[in-house]
Amino acid sequence: DQNEGRQGVAILGSTGSIGMSTLDVLARHPDRFAVAALTANAQVDRLYEQCVRFRPRFAAMLDPQAARDLERRLRASGIPTVVSSGLDGLSTVAADRASDIVMAAIVGAAGLIPTLAAVKAGKRVLLANKEPLVMSGRVLMREARAAGAVLLPIDSEHNAIFQCLPAAFRAGEPPAGVRRLFLTCSGGPFRAASAEALARATPEQACAHPNWVMGRKISVDSATLMNKGLEVIEACWLFGVAPSRIEVVIHPQSVIHSMVEYDDGSVLAQLANPDMRIPIAHALAWPSRIQSGAKPIDLVDLARLDFAAPDTTRFPCLRLAYEAGAAGGTTPAILNAANEVAVAAFLEGRIPFIDISRVIETALAQVPGRSDDSLDDVLADDARARVAAERAVAGAGRRVRQGVS
Ligand code: NAD
Ligand code: MG
Repeated sequence: DQNEGRQGVAILGSTGSIGMSTLDVLARHPDRFAVAALTANAQVDRLYEQCVRFRPRFAAMLDPQAARDLERRLRASGIPTVVSSGLDGLSTVAADRASDIVMAAIVGAAGLIPTLAAVKAGKRVLLANKEPLVMSGRVLMREARAAGAVLLPIDSEHNAIFQCLPAAFRAGEPPAGVRRLFLTCSGGPFRAASAEALARATPEQACAHPNWVMGRKISVDSATLMNKGLEVIEACWLFGVAPSRIEVVIHPQSVIHSMVEYDDGSVLAQLANPDMRIPIAHALAWPSRIQSGAKPIDLVDLARLDFAAPDTTRFPCLRLAYEAGAAGGTTPAILNAANEVAVAAFLEGRIPFIDISRVIETALAQVPGRSDDSLDDVLADDARARVAAERAVAGAGRRVRQGVS
């Protein structure tokens, strides 16, 4: 047994924010878990350091040149980690029998194929990467059932809901006796910003989240509230409910991570300090409990918890996501792809913050969603949406340069 009785863990996206938090938790439990595989896009230095420290059996990088650099450095250091590259390399390590658990922590649609490989191999899949579920929830849930994969949510809200559901709950099946799900939302860095301030918002301001340190894409999503919109669709697939049964509530302290309301009026909540190591440790050990390294909560110091309704006038992305979720089919994939293009354009300074929702709305109007949502349909409409969104970005950029808004 190559893992010596321990559970093997593969991390897709180990150099990112979730990936590093996962390694932090794993390092606290060397008797329980063995790091079987680490993967990244192109960050050779960080992946090399992780390989030196955790000695995984496999490492994979999307970028072939980066993979060659990594391999050369590992060989020079006498480390036997097997290196592969490309989407095939990522998918192969995700499905390899060296791992029992796969942490899906790539950002965006890029995670779909490797995550699907882990699901088809019947792994325990820890799902941080929400975009694949938004794009093709039907395919992922069906394949998980067929292969006997166990899907456990890492997104703090969904992990909280999972913890508040009856123990008999199985992913994708409507839980008995549940009336509504409350998804809490910090409101992001622009919760109290005026429309004028939003028009001038910079990438640096958008990435300065009040409660969480995260990758840049999800940070911008949190600032537009698209993150919460994607989470509504994510919750529909994981918990087998319609969007109309999911209520978003602004909760600036990020201490209640979400809630489940039952038919009798009882509401169960999960509370914790905002630290992603908590949902990560929960899902790694489920149904056991292990130390996460997070600071214990101090209720007296917190003193109060606030709640408010979200404002979809200043944050239209939340409305667009609810509509896409209700439309179903390939529409959520179109929404997600247009959002990825718009967020990248904003981070590159090509469009202002408030044009993110306009670009998405334009793409949704130009690319008709289809009710067929096979993987091929989803990938085709994802590609169409990216073309439409790029065109809308170019138009918005022209307006900016001409000084018209
Ligand atoms: P990040 O940008 O910090 O890290 C992304 C990781 O994916 C990196 O390891 C990177 O090398 C890899 N990667 C990027 N593009 C890739 C590609 N094309 N192919 C293969 N690998 C690629 O992102 P993050 O903040 O860790 O978020 C990861 C996912 O988890 C996202 O889907 C995000 O929505 C979700 N999530 C994150 C948090 C958080 O606190 N950071 C919370 C909830 C959910
Ligand atoms: Mg979340």
